[in-house]
Amino acid sequence: MTVMSPIAASLYDRVRRVIPAIEWPAFSDDIDAILALKRERNAVILAHNYQTPEIFHCVADIVGDSLALARKAMAVDADIIVLAGVHFMAETAKLLNPGKTVLIPDMRAGCSLADSVTAEDVRLMRLRYPGVPVVTYVNTSAAVKAESDICCTSGNALAVVESLCAPRVIMLPDEYLAKNIAAQTKVEIIAWKGHCEVHERFTPADIHELREAHPGVTVLAHPECPPEVVAVADFAGSTAAMSDYVGRHKPTRVVLMTECSMSDNVAVDHPEVDFVRPCNLCPHMKRITLANIRAALEENRHVVTIDPHVADRARQAVERMLAV
Ligand code: SF4
Repeated sequence: MTVMSPIAASLYDRVRRVIPAIEWPAFSDDIDAILALKRERNAVILAHNYQTPEIFHCVADIVGDSLALARKAMAVDADIIVLAGVHFMAETAKLLNPGKTVLIPDMRAGCSLADSVTAEDVRLMRLRYPGVPVVTYVNTSAAVKAESDICCTSGNALAVVESLCAPRVIMLPDEYLAKNIAAQTKVEIIAWKGHCEVHERFTPADIHELREAHPGVTVLAHPECPPEVVAVADFAGSTAAMSDYVGRHKPTRVVLMTECSMSDNVAVDHPEVDFVRPCNLCPHMKRITLANIRAALEENRHVVTIDPHVADRARQAVERMLAV
């Protein structure tokens, strides 16, 4: 029988609503090891809202959406940042805090949006639309950010677009985010054809079925969902905005049209809210596990590096966003 440390036992109290007791012994040993390694190596773990609860609530020091992680990465004072998220997030942390060692536990943790556009694509868009500013979602490689005027996240995209005071902007790579922002502004938006493989799967029919099966349910959608989905939701916003919505409005029953772990992570802090959980997993986010976070700290892997010429230009695009 596995003997649980007092720390692991108290952490389990926090997540018992979303992690069955039978699964916990598989996590507790790695959790104890990771907590010790963080102290030994002066490391912090940044975890995205889509990470599983045993990472998000039990070993992470800083949690949030892409925007929050970018802002907080700048202020990290530890020697090592472990990014429990996908590769572009680790690159963004490295851009904003270049003196730190940034580790990603699995180099294969990519993103369908980041993979949908290259630096060459951005250069070609500039040739096609001379003088039109380029707004790039943070879900892109550093090389793509380097070709951009400014970055945005789903949490600040409208403010970023309007900050440019231009009649039209190129916004890439997420077609649906671009269209959802276009519906809220007079700025003409030229979109790209990239999609998030998690959010593009939701349909208006899904929401209709959820409302029939769960009368009175409040539906919150991420702006990477198709505009027809956002149109029939009760609220649309970034993962941070969805989490705030639940905290402020405390709906009796809610469904988050986004990656599955998000509901588990928000549910931990809102036991009074009933979460309906249709599941769309992000296979890239799920490449990060306690086991490979532990290995990352034990073996100093995988170190994130960025070509310095690319990094300087990409950093400017991210810093312009943070100044908005
Ligand atoms: S959820 Fe979508 S946008 Fe986020 S990492 Fe996965 S594929 Fe990329």
